[in-house]
Amino acid sequence: MQGAIVELDFMSCSCRRWELNGLSCLHECAAINIGELLLNGFVHNFYTVYNYRRTYEFNIMRINSLDDWPKSEGTSPLLSRYNKSKRGHPPMIRRRGAYEQVDNS
Ligand SMILES: [Zn+2]
Repeated sequence: MQGAIVELDFMSCSCRRWELNGLSCLHECAAINIGELLLNGFVHNFYTVYNYRRTYEFNIMRINSLDDWPKSEGTSPLLSRYNKSKRGHPPMIRRRGAYEQVDNS
């Protein structure tokens, strides 16, 4: 996108990439570079080391294997019909032409 409008005070760019994912777009980097500013002041707060550590500060508990799961007393789950895939190339179904002769040799 050429001619993008960058507003550094509002942390926005007309390409909308900066607002959507918080990552710097090329336009923002160019504007910061032209203004000789520090890039650190324009990175979204979510991408700081502090917030990264807060995100992963809790333990992630392991999940038991399928063998440890309790068995259901109800009906067994139905398998999907679409799990079965046929091997090989699908057969070619060709319609014969109206004047094509059938070769029954
Ligand atoms: Zn942009």
